[in-house]
Amino acid sequence: MRRSNKSNETTVKDAGGHISLVEQLTPLARKINCLDIERIMDVCMKHIPNLVGARLASLYILDETNNILHLQKHNHPFLINKIVSLNQNPPSLMVMAIRSKEIILVRDIDTHKKPVIKKSQRSFSENYKTNNCVIAPLICQDRVVGVLNLSDKIEGNSFDSEDIALIELCSQLVGGSIGNIKLFEKIQHQATTDGLTGLANHKTFYEILEKELWRSRRYGGQISLIMIDIDNFKKINDTYGHRAGDKVIREISKKIKECIRQIDTAARYGGDEFAVILPNTSLKDAFVVAKRMVDVVAHSPATWKKEQIALSISVGLGQYDADTNPEDITSGSDRALYTAKQAGKNTVRIFEPSKKYQQ
Ligand code: GH3
Ligand code: MG
Repeated sequence: MRRSNKSNETTVKDAGGHISLVEQLTPLARKINCLDIERIMDVCMKHIPNLVGARLASLYILDETNNILHLQKHNHPFLINKIVSLNQNPPSLMVMAIRSKEIILVRDIDTHKKPVIKKSQRSFSENYKTNNCVIAPLICQDRVVGVLNLSDKIEGNSFDSEDIALIELCSQLVGGSIGNIKLFEKIQHQATTDGLTGLANHKTFYEILEKELWRSRRYGGQISLIMIDIDNFKKINDTYGHRAGDKVIREISKKIKECIRQIDTAARYGGDEFAVILPNTSLKDAFVVAKRMVDVVAHSPATWKKEQIALSISVGLGQYDADTNPEDITSGSDRALYTAKQAGKNTVRIFEPSKKYQQ
């Protein structure tokens, strides 16, 4: 039995030993109150459906930037839509629930009037055992963050008003937690990346370098580090303005990313300076990457107000043992970068500890 004797609801088990509704809801609320999306998904796929006697559940999260719902989790034994556009016309039930910010109860989808759901809109209709479902928008601080769908009521004809009240309560809690998770992820992203380029920031760069050094100490291998500085960048700022300078920084950061592998980390080290960590990479391979960066940037002028701005970068790199400390690593590659500048810019130089500098 999923519900208790109503007169005893707030306190104890009824004569049959069944736990009260409040006793069921409290641990559920505790479970939902977290920053762990896996746990929220578990509640939405198991606990909430159990509470209201629904056979099927699906959870969609809203991508507000692109107006798209993404399927996060479902327990359907068949395929369902992975993405749903909010711009669709006519709107589906999920889109209507988002627009109205109200729960939609469908007792019988074949006779449902607002809106009329055409068979053609229900690509997977034959997979459901019943004609009823509930679509609950998940809301945090008046903003929709997702949708929880529950369908195929196991007992009875359809979801009743008590089910709706429970779904409303749970969707408020789930919406609050999903909103918090999104906010937490956004703040975490802002704290670890550079706002202008989206690359790792200075602090994250050192954290990743420490992690890669630890990994090399444990599993072996050496680390290569590339330091990059834009040539004559001050002049670009002075001639075309700061916004043009920002555009140049963004475009060069993209070129740098295009030259590296997924396991490498590109960071904005400072104003017009970048650093790239290449784990398990030989000096020879790192040199090829660095040379490619110099060539790509030199062949990709930026455009600002229909004017072309010629660009170039200078690059210094080195390869380091796992027991080198992070400061020595950056200063080694930085010294090579300095020699690249001294050599006339738009070029690569390698740091080698024994020789101090090498051309
Ligand atoms: P060099 O070829 O020797 O590197 O000369 P440079 O002109 O590039 O000199 P430097 O690297 O010292 O200049 C960096 C300039 O970058 C100074 C600073 O005003 C500018 N800068 C730093 N951060 C930003 C930023 O976020 N946006 C813009 N537009 N400019 C920045
Ligand atoms: Mg510079």
